[in-house]
Amino acid sequence: MKNLANISSHLKVLDTKDLTIQRVEDPISLKNLSFKVYDEIGNFGSKLEIWINDFSDVEFPIRIHYETSRNGSALQWLKKDQTGDGTHPYFFTQCAAGDGTGLNVIAHEIAHSWTGNLVTHFNFEHFWIKEAFTVFLERKIMGRIYGEPMRQFLAEGGWKDLKDSIEQYGEKNPLTKLHLDLTGLDPTDSFSKVPYEKGSTVIWYWDELYEDSELFDKFIRYFLSKWKFQSITLHNLFETILEFTRKEAPLDVYTKLLNMNTTAWFEEPGLPPYKPEWLKLGIRSRYKPIVEQVFRFTESQGRIYFNQQLFRDMYDWKEQRVETIETYHRIKNRWMFITGYLVGRELKLFC
Ligand SMILES: [Zn+2]
Repeated sequence: MKNLANISSHLKVLDTKDLTIQRVEDPISLKNLSFKVYDEIGNFGSKLEIWINDFSDVEFPIRIHYETSRNGSALQWLKKDQTGDGTHPYFFTQCAAGDGTGLNVIAHEIAHSWTGNLVTHFNFEHFWIKEAFTVFLERKIMGRIYGEPMRQFLAEGGWKDLKDSIEQYGEKNPLTKLHLDLTGLDPTDSFSKVPYEKGSTVIWYWDELYEDSELFDKFIRYFLSKWKFQSITLHNLFETILEFTRKEAPLDVYTKLLNMNTTAWFEEPGLPPYKPEWLKLGIRSRYKPIVEQVFRFTESQGRIYFNQQLFRDMYDWKEQRVETIETYHRIKNRWMFITGYLVGRELKLFC
């Protein structure tokens, strides 16, 4: 790997983190430059000093040969099976985004190499398909870099954007449908967050339905390889997930998919008929700030189904178990007796 940096003094100090510096050279003379990597200081990385033979103040380039590592945060390597089509590994650098804040934009464009370029939509009425997968994959990449809570926050932010967008159009506006009928309409009028965010909620929903993100990744790869270099419709997409699920996933997943209200999801305007459960995902990824939100939510309503599931998941989170049981005792009298009893059983308080 090579990188060029313009520098101007005889001793240059750079920051490195989780990199192995192999060699530093003057790219014009190809002569090696001496360098020293200091010991790592906590999470801040190590100092890299480079001595330059030229003492003038004229800017000239240096070339650094380095190797990134599994933990490198500024430089990332996705193994081939972590990529959309599973055939090529991918290397990318935060420097390409300047400071990393635009990284999701880059992740989005990377994802488009598969969903958008390799497989694309049949016509503008099916535009949402490529953006749905691309947004889903973009957030998956972000999750791999910054952790699962980041993926959820981006998705949760996307949901807010979707709500705003639908409010602007009006919830009965046909342009807030996923599968559009653009007869007599200008496609550019339909351009909004809807295909991106309502679309990625479909993919998110399927991923949750699978309850096995590795198997769902396998579906995405299957879908991409089946339709590569082709343009597809909603019908093609849905047939493909049905086909894959029937062959590869547990029967109950297939049944749920068959029972999916496709009219409400694809043909009706407004918000999708399902909202992702950010709380459960937060618990599962052991994201501490979620705990307070979970307790507030369970206290605020008495639905057996929600509270049982959330407390069951909280119970599995060992470090939070004591606090979970304390909270249960504090709030159980707000619920109906049966709810308190069933949730208590999830906490192994009764036989
Ligand atoms: Zn896009």
